[in-house]
Order: sequence, then structure tokens, then C-alpha cells
Amino acid sequence: MATPWSLSGALKGMFSRKTIDDETWDDLEDALITADFGSDITDSIVAELRENVRKYSTTDPEDLRRMLRETLEERLARLDPTLTLSARPAVVLVVGVNGVGKTTTIGKFAKFLTTRGRTVIVGAADTFRAAAVEQLATWAERGGASIQKPQQQGQDPASVAFQTIERAQREGVDIVLIDTAGRLQTKSGLMDELAKVKRVVEKQTEIAEVLLVLDATTGQNGLAQAEAFIEHAGVTGLVLTKLDGSAKGGFVLSVQEKTGIPIKLVGQGEGINDLTGFTPHVFVQNLIG
Ligand code: GDP
Repeated sequence: MATPWSLSGALKGMFSRKTIDDETWDDLEDALITADFGSDITDSIVAELRENVRKYSTTDPEDLRRMLRETLEERLARLDPTLTLSARPAVVLVVGVNGVGKTTTIGKFAKFLTTRGRTVIVGAADTFRAAAVEQLATWAERGGASIQKPQQQGQDPASVAFQTIERAQREGVDIVLIDTAGRLQTKSGLMDELAKVKRVVEKQTEIAEVLLVLDATTGQNGLAQAEAFIEHAGVTGLVLTKLDGSAKGGFVLSVQEKTGIPIKLVGQGEGINDLTGFTPHVFVQNLIG
């Protein structure tokens, strides 16, 4: 079954024609724009493919499909999607604005890790809303992780992060996932809070990863959000959520090229098992067919 973000439907007419002609190029451009590759990347892909088609003097749409697959895969593979989690404990800060799927992602990521034999503790360093802490606790439990909650509502987030890491060190836990606040109303406050959490944690131990969770359905808005976090939180990897509900598979390439930060995990559903590592080859195979 085709995934919602697959281009195979949009490209069907194009690849069913006998020869590459002007309409082929128009169709390709439309398909890439509609899939949210963004106009710069669309232009550069189309230019590269036109050049290749000319160079190899082909008129066969199947050759064009292969070239499209190759160029997308080559571009996506320019950044390394490997998670660096060898430290013990490996401390991961999870950042992003509310609603993108941060809580769910932490639960899914915990599950991803515990099924691979790693022990996980979650730190509830978004201490502002008690309901959010309880929701995180539910997801941590589903993921097979323990949780360090704030001792009182509104406890300094940095101190919760500190206590979580201390507990991980004491109990010999492999991975620490720190949830952080995502209230966008107070952007500068939020960025200051994140910077403080980061500073305190860095005094205690090295940070293995800072993962920014982005909602794939938000397109260019998501990119604007990403920039603030990249500037203030030292993001090392992206997690794209809600790819299952998005027609915008091209966002995957555009977010990676525009931020220069690798996508490390992809969320494709609301269930505990709906998170995978990011594999350009598999992704492009699903995208192009
Ligand atoms: P947070 O505010 O960032 O912590 O967001 P939540 O984790 O509470 O998620 C917000 C909503 O997005 C919930 O309804 C989740 O079920 C949903 N969600 C999260 N990840 C995904 C995903 O990969 N696919 C889909 N379809 N929904 C998701």
C-alpha cells in the first residue's frame, strides 16, 4: 500500500508516457512542489535531472525514474543519521514546541531502545503542567522506561534533569531521555530555559544528542521553528513526526538540506511502535516506488 507521502501516484502519469517530453518536466516539477520539496530544491533537482538526461541522451521515462531515485538518495545520505548513544548513561535532550508529538516520541523512543536491550529513564523537565507530567509518565511506562518526576509543580527544569542523570548514574541506566518545555508563547523564555537545562547538564556530563521533534505536516512553519532551536539548543538530530498523516514527503529532504542537521528518527503513527530510524534508501524506495 502506498504511504500518504509517496510520490508514486503523482508520478504515475509521467512514467506511463512513452518518452520524456516538456510535459514530463512540468509534471515532475508540480509533483515535487506539491510534496513540499520547496522551490529551490525542486529547481535544483529538475536542473540536475535535465542535465543527466541530456548527458546520457535518453528519452526513456524509466531512466528518469532511476535518476530521480539516485539523486534523492544521494542528497538524503549526505548527512549521517546514526544516533550517538554509546556513553553510559547517554543523555538525550528532547526539544520542540508543544503539539509536535514530543511526549509520544519519548515513549516510542524508549520502546525502540528497550526492545534493543537498553535501559531507559525519562526525566520530566517540563515541570509547568502536572497533566503533561502524567501523560509523559504513561508513555514512559508503555515504553518500558522509568521516570523521574518533578518533586513539586514548577520545580526548576534544570534540577529535574540533574536529578534524572544522577539517578541514572546511581542505578546504572543506559539512556536518559530528558523531556523539555515547549510553550511557544514565551519564545525567549523557552530558549533561556533550554539553554539553562543544557548548561547544567553539561556541567554534570556530556550530552549525547539534542533531538528536535518537528511535525512533518507543518511544512515551512516547521523550518522557522527549527531555526530558533538550532540556534539556542545545539540540535544534533531531527525527529520528524506525523509523516503518516502527511502528503509532504518532500519536507524530509528540504528540512535536512535547509538546516544541515540529519534526520535521525521518523514517527509514522500514534502507536508505541510507530517510530523508526531514518534510512534514505528505504525512504526513497517508498517515495518513488
Ligand atoms: P507534545 O505536545 O509535543 O508532547 O505532543 P504529543 O506527544 O502529546 O502529541 C500530540 C498529538 O500528535 C497526539 O494526538 C499524538 O497522538 C499525535 N502524534 C504524535 N506523533 C504522531 C505520529 O507520528 N503520527 C500521527 N498520526 N500522530 C502523531
